[in-house]
Parts: sequence; C-alpha cells; structure tokens
Amino acid sequence: MAEYSSLCAECSREQATYADYLSRLTSAELSERESKAVTRRINAAKFPTPKELSDFDFKAVPSLNKQKVLELSRCGFVSDRTNIVLVGPPGVGKTHLAISLSLSACRLGHRAKFFTASSIVNTYREAREERVVSRLESSLRKLDVIVIDELGYLPIDQTGAESLFGFFSLCYEQVSVIVTTNLPFAQWPQTFAGDARMTGALLDRLTHRVEILAIEGDSYRLKQSRKKKR
Ligand code: ADP
Ligand code: MG
Repeated sequence: MAEYSSLCAECSREQATYADYLSRLTSAELSERESKAVTRRINAAKFPTPKELSDFDFKAVPSLNKQKVLELSRCGFVSDRTNIVLVGPPGVGKTHLAISLSLSACRLGHRAKFFTASSIVNTYREAREERVVSRLESSLRKLDVIVIDELGYLPIDQTGAESLFGFFSLCYEQVSVIVTTNLPFAQWPQTFAGDARMTGALLDRLTHRVEILAIEGDSYRLKQSRKKKR
C-alpha cells in the first residue's frame, strides 16, 4: 500500500499505540480497496463520457424536477428496482442525467452498464448468431442498473423489437433500467416494428414501477452557442 510508510512515520511522530497504527492502516487499506472497486465499476459500465450531476445546470431546464433528480441520485431506485424514463427533445440533457445517475449508482456499490437502443439490439443479434443468448442474459441479470439510451431515434425491426421485449422482461423487478427517449409512450409502437401488442406488453413491464422525468425546452448546446454568438 502506498501510504504505508507515511502512515508509519505519522504514527511514530504522534507516538501512537501499535493498535492505533494497525487500525489506521486497516482503514486506509479498506478505503483504497473501495476506491479501486468504484473505478472498476465505472470502467465496466462503459459510459461514452463521464457526466457529473454537479455539472448539470438545473436552471437551464426549469421544467425538470430538481429535487426528484437529487433524490434519485441517492439510488433508492436501484434497491427498489424502479425504472427511470427520461423523455424529451434532443439536447436537453437526457443522456447526461442517465449517466450521472448511473455514476452515483457505481459509487454506491452497484453495477451499471450503458447501452444505446441500437447497441443492445446488436448485442442480442450477435449473441443469437453465436448461440449465447442465455450467457448474455445471465450477465445482464447480474447488473443493478442498465441504461438504454436513445430509444425511438431509430426504427427497430421485428427481431430487434422481440429482443428488446425479451430484455425488458428479463429486467422486470430484477434490474433497474434507465431509458432515454424522444418519444411519448403513445408513439412507441411505431419504433417497435409497428407491433402494438408487444409494445403494450413491454410498456407494461417498464412502467410497472417507474419515475418519468419529462424534460422540455431547447437544446442546451444550441442555447450555449447562441449565447456565445451574442
Ligand atoms: P440529450 O441526451 O437529451 O439529447 P445530452 O445529455 O446529450 O442531451 O446533452 C447534450 C450536451 O449538452 C451534453 O454535452 C450535455 O452534457 C450538455 N447538457 C445538456 N443539458 C445540460 C444542462 N442542463 N447542464 C449542463 N450541461 C447540459
Ligand atoms: Mg442523448
């Protein structure tokens, strides 16, 4: 351990007892292990970029319930297996918030993983081709939080829609899913190969226990670049 010698010097300077020295050494070792575990969980989550809640400007989106977001960042939703749906137009911070909440989860000891809607569909397709869907599903089941980003931006074919239906059934009451989408629920059948029945069943599972955060307003980036021009 890196602090071993400085801790040793510190204790002899303070004439600390041997028991005191051991206890300080143990707690330093424990906190080092914990911080390494946090880093490991964050790396394993494969976030496209880290996005901190402390960098989120709530004033830019008055329609968003800040208190609710702060409460969610304490991650009770993970233990409750509650899902989160962030819905709103492009650029309003949906992905930012999904990543921030999952980062908090990693820091609190939970395992998270980031997917886009297309990447989870591709992951299922590859697993099907290699006949390892059950292996994929057992690894997904071990997670505590899964982000599905950008649901609704691209149409999904029948097989992809079936994979997603399987995915949401798997997660139901087992894993918290954070979905970001530009589409209100009424338009979801369009995305899922026009299959209204399956979409209904999927929404049923997703929304059984859910926090819906609707974000309105203009794109944050657009606003920033307009500000700069002025
Ligand atoms: P969306 O997923 O809703 O399309 P993003 O989360 O990708 O939007 O946001 C676009 C960019 O703007 C990102 O770099 C994000 O960090 C930033 N951003 C969006 N909203 C805010 C905000 N309220 N405060 C700070 N940064 C923001
Ligand atoms: Mg996004």
